Amino acid sequence: MNDAAPNAAPQTFYLKDYKPFGYEVESVKLTFQLSPNATKVHSAIRFTPKADAEDNRFFLHGEQLSLISAKIDGTPVTARLVDGGLECDVPRRSFLWEAEVEIDPAADTALEGLYMSNGMYCTQCEAEGFRKITYYPDRPDVMSTFTVRIEGNEPVMLSNGNPTGAGEGWAEWHDPWPKPAYLFALVAGDLVNHPGSFTTKSGKDVELNIWVRPGDEGKCAFGMEALKKSMKWDEDVYGLEYDLDLFNIVAVDDFNMGAMENKGLNIFNSSCVLASPETSTDANFERIEAIIAHEYFHNWTGNRITCRDWFQLCLKEGLTVFRDAQFTADMRSEPVKRIEDVIALRARQFPEDGGPLAHPPRPEEFQEINNFYTATVYEKGAEVIGMLKRLVGDDNYYKALNLYFERHDGQACTIEDWLKVFEDATGRDLSQFKLWYSQAGTPRVKVSEEYADGTYTLTFEQSTPPTPGQPEKAPRVIPMAVGLLSPNGDEVRATEVLELTEAKQSFTFDGLASKPVPSILREFSAPVILERETTNSERAFLLAHDTDPFNRWEAGNALAKEVRVAMVLDGTAPDAAYLDALEKLVRDDEQDPAFRALVLSPPSQSDIAQTLHERGHTPDPQKIYDAAETFTQTLAQQLETSLPRLYAATTVEGPYVPDADGAGKRALNSRILSLLTRLDGGEQAARQYASADNMTQQYAALAALMKAEKGEAQSQAFFEQWQDDRLVMDKWFALQIACAAPEATAATAKELTQHPLFSMKNPNRFRAVMGALAGNHAGFHHASGAGYQLLAENLIALDSVNPQTTARMCAAFQTWKRYDSKRQAQIQTELERILATSGLSRDTHEMVSRMLSA
Ligand SMILES: [Zn+2]
Repeated sequence: MNDAAPNAAPQTFYLKDYKPFGYEVESVKLTFQLSPNATKVHSAIRFTPKADAEDNRFFLHGEQLSLISAKIDGTPVTARLVDGGLECDVPRRSFLWEAEVEIDPAADTALEGLYMSNGMYCTQCEAEGFRKITYYPDRPDVMSTFTVRIEGNEPVMLSNGNPTGAGEGWAEWHDPWPKPAYLFALVAGDLVNHPGSFTTKSGKDVELNIWVRPGDEGKCAFGMEALKKSMKWDEDVYGLEYDLDLFNIVAVDDFNMGAMENKGLNIFNSSCVLASPETSTDANFERIEAIIAHEYFHNWTGNRITCRDWFQLCLKEGLTVFRDAQFTADMRSEPVKRIEDVIALRARQFPEDGGPLAHPPRPEEFQEINNFYTATVYEKGAEVIGMLKRLVGDDNYYKALNLYFERHDGQACTIEDWLKVFEDATGRDLSQFKLWYSQAGTPRVKVSEEYADGTYTLTFEQSTPPTPGQPEKAPRVIPMAVGLLSPNGDEVRATEVLELTEAKQSFTFDGLASKPVPSILREFSAPVILERETTNSERAFLLAHDTDPFNRWEAGNALAKEVRVAMVLDGTAPDAAYLDALEKLVRDDEQDPAFRALVLSPPSQSDIAQTLHERGHTPDPQKIYDAAETFTQTLAQQLETSLPRLYAATTVEGPYVPDADGAGKRALNSRILSLLTRLDGGEQAARQYASADNMTQQYAALAALMKAEKGEAQSQAFFEQWQDDRLVMDKWFALQIACAAPEATAATAKELTQHPLFSMKNPNRFRAVMGALAGNHAGFHHASGAGYQLLAENLIALDSVNPQTTARMCAAFQTWKRYDSKRQAQIQTELERILATSGLSRDTHEMVSRMLSA
């Protein structure tokens, strides 16, 4: 099946070609006879032709299936196997389709469809994995109820919905809620459960379970609490209740994504659910809480209301990311969450939006949908919803959401349906706003100002650079949150949302006693790049006085960037005024430790490279690295006398609790420790490493030591202590590469690919090593080209094992046009080498072709 000629351009699918399926699927009954290499799947599906169908072709998707038999109403029929599935002549009335197929889960290293992980059966069907299980109209707008019987010798056998019966060697499940096939799930294996329960606001008792491999039971308690908090939050904030008697989560070691929201049976990458103080860092805890919430929230935004087709992916993902960010802000700290999200957006989405892989949140074409599970669809999709909420206001937002659930429950929807509920609930015309869904690229907003006779005028000019297939862009609706401060630091105008709708637009503020200092794009009210001529002293002023916590951080961040850029371009020493401002802030114990830790975290080297590129310079990764080193060393020296006191003052005593307060303090403490390690030869870090009783402090100490090249003994000890824990070992692999000097990065990564615990078949381990290589900016882009070569070699080797993870990791090359011609030539050679690989997957083919055509 699908034996296209090697490397021929694969088929492209277009949004404009959408046509509904010609049949209703009334019910689906599946029987699995499990066997690692020869699982038999029997399907019995009742189809009814739609009276108004444009197209009655009976085509069922199917890939890598051995068809044993097919019947219609009990009579054997001959199906025609065609590219990507089968066709069959069927009656023009309701009929029962039955098929028996055989599949080979143990051979499925792509981890799509039904596969095996450590002897356990497990599925991943989003986006198009169900077609590797049986012949089916595998598209999200075909929804049906599923009844599943599993036959096998596994102690635990789970599927979606509620259990309806079980006996020796079998289990049956029924899911009463119609769903698309991508939400189907099956898990079978030797598993143990961590149980819990939740009573919904209308009084229904729900049984909860987290299923894990024996030995991992002790790492489930935090995830269970996070699940209960999520269920409660969704009732309190959105009024949404859970709708089955049972909610299961299963942890799986081999998984391409973070987690999957299958109805009633969420399947998680074990890294996104298993947690304990000894093995997980504060960042892990926060991420686990957020992902459990995200998948749970999909029960309504994704499952009850799903997507009509995969072009609409951001309908469920943008909204659910937005909801999980609201949840984290409520559980932890709103400003800290916002700052972290913007850092991530700039690190992942902005480069995507400004490079060869740029696409709108709702793309209009794809070859392989797996390649569109991107930062643009997820994170920019969430930003678009944040802007919508800001424009219509909180009350109208929840009014529109209520209408969305009321009107579309049980349906497969589009972005048009989504925007229509906002138009109907608020009376607002959103046709211009809709451009956010169809236009790619990050808008640039140039700001200029004027002040005369008490009147202050801000003028905004917006433009968006060309992106692939979109040379021209129309102006968008941009909510610009602005406040004004007086020169003495008082706020003279509270935050107000200005609505930009034209290419150039001015707004005036009257009655001011003196020229104000503007605080623009508060809370990062739109995903744009602000361009404004300003001074470092004004940035320092905002860092000290802005009432908007996001913009206070942003002022410090912009200042840090300017200082770094100047160091790179002019070889100057770090700006003394900035160092003084930083010192003052770090020593100010009145300030929130989490905020101080964020201000003390420098912009990433990749971010500096991007900034240089945007200003027309060619970034030199080695120079950027050197400037970062000089800056940190100078800062450490400046703070020398205060570091021991600060370290002691920020050390969290008592038992470890993974809450926001403790995490903020530990984050600051870790930053202080890394500075201190530059001066004390690693004494304090070695003491912390030896006494740490939690992973956050153990890992921080190890990282500080390794960065200072003083951690060899501790690294060895860490390995010996944790070699049997896969998730902790991922940290060990990644840290060595992250801490390597630029010239040693590729060699370190290469050596780790020879390590007995390295595996191509485990996506987490592969990402730990190759992701860390791509994430070490100066090391990956080292002039030798060794980083590029090593990544390309490994991607080529991985492609035949796991195309989805390969294609996703190819994106490490997406910023290649930023760099000098020698590096561009080196990367081009590697991309061409990947593309020339015989039998290359369509996933990787599409990604590499897009990058090369830029
Ligand atoms: Zn999701």
